[in-house]
Amino acid sequence: MAKTMAVNAGSSSLKFQLLEMPAEQVIAQGVIERIGMDDAIVTIKYGADVQGERLIGHLEEDDEHVTLSKNGKGKKYENVLAIKDHQQAINFMLQKLTDLGIIQDFNEITGVGHRVVAGGEWFNHSVVVTDSVLEKIDRLADYAPLHNPANAMGIRAFQKLLPDALSVAVFDTSFHQSMPEENYLYSLPYEYYTRYGARKYGAHGTSHRYVAARAADMMGKDLSSLKLITLHLGAGASITAVKDGKSLDTSMGFSPLAGVTMATRSGDVDASLVYYIQEREGLTNDEMLTILNKKSGLLGLSTISSDMRDLLDVQDTNDHAKLAVKIFVNRIIKYVGQYIAEMGGVDALVFTAGIGENSAPIRQMIIDRLSYFGIELDTDANQTRGQEIEISTSSSRVKALLIPTNEELMIARDVEALK
Ligand code: ADP
Repeated sequence: MAKTMAVNAGSSSLKFQLLEMPAEQVIAQGVIERIGMDDAIVTIKYGADVQGERLIGHLEEDDEHVTLSKNGKGKKYENVLAIKDHQQAINFMLQKLTDLGIIQDFNEITGVGHRVVAGGEWFNHSVVVTDSVLEKIDRLADYAPLHNPANAMGIRAFQKLLPDALSVAVFDTSFHQSMPEENYLYSLPYEYYTRYGARKYGAHGTSHRYVAARAADMMGKDLSSLKLITLHLGAGASITAVKDGKSLDTSMGFSPLAGVTMATRSGDVDASLVYYIQEREGLTNDEMLTILNKKSGLLGLSTISSDMRDLLDVQDTNDHAKLAVKIFVNRIIKYVGQYIAEMGGVDALVFTAGIGENSAPIRQMIIDRLSYFGIELDTDANQTRGQEIEISTSSSRVKALLIPTNEELMIARDVEALK
């Protein structure tokens, strides 16, 4: 059967998932971290349900070993070695997939789907990568300087090693291209939009698109008839109003810095305050952006941790942690209220990503504040983690759903659709 690889290439890492398509079965997944270093780490999990537990053998070097999962069905390959660039990383990974017997031949991989962060206004759906598509991804680096160049590097490296596989770009922004101009434009001089593309693009589009479609399936309704609010709450967090199956509005903006409070990102801030702080502290533009992106959000407010688990653990005894959680929840409530008003109602709220999938207390804090809209939490169902389930009561007028996101599957499906 044909295999499709879903790829997420970062500047020093590369995550991948190999799926049997159209069966949608994951046969391997892995990550190569610290690309460019002498001690890059390669991890490949394969077989079923892998949680590396028992060492079953060293391969060539001491660092290279395979462990077997508790249930005996899955295996985990790990190695630490020097990897100089993405090309070498991908070459090594494909070779290892062959050595481990996961594939017999590179040519079994007939499609490769790449996550690309910024698609600007050029891409409102996934596309087969051509020279002109690659050139546009390069040009869009202005909008995502940390991500698009790495994404393009991943695409080029795979094209060299698998020249016959269909190469597809799946953009984080494309789902949000359906937003109307009253939602994507900032109230700035219009010429900045025409000159520089200064507008809202949103992010996490592949995740919002996946969970919205799953929500419609779970509800047994046609997606085009629903008003949904999808809450992607991970380290990065965004909320989207999905009406008639399309993104109507989303909380992230020109970049993924905007919107709700995140692990280390500030979310929405009055622009003039940024200049005020920058001037007082004598910070360069880059330093200020680093503070907004890496030192703010839950970390900045709590002064303790960017990880929601840590904050929930100590919130009863630590005022800063409590405040950070309160602000996180409150920002979300405000966006949800705004989107209910914008859509003229809501049929379901969908929780996904690290916090959305795993944190019963956060889901409860959000839903309890929304009872006015006719949303009633089933507190038992809400204890579930990481699996699809309805967490509202059967009498709740508005449904609340927990749906683990699966961007890799969405990418693989897009590759299939373009074959
Ligand atoms: P991203 O893909 O944006 O890096 P994830 O979707 O993997 O992020 O989510 C990571 C976040 O999920 C972490 O910040 C962590 O705090 C949070 N998280 C994971 N499990 C839990 C949990 N049980 N309770 C609360 N937060 C959790």
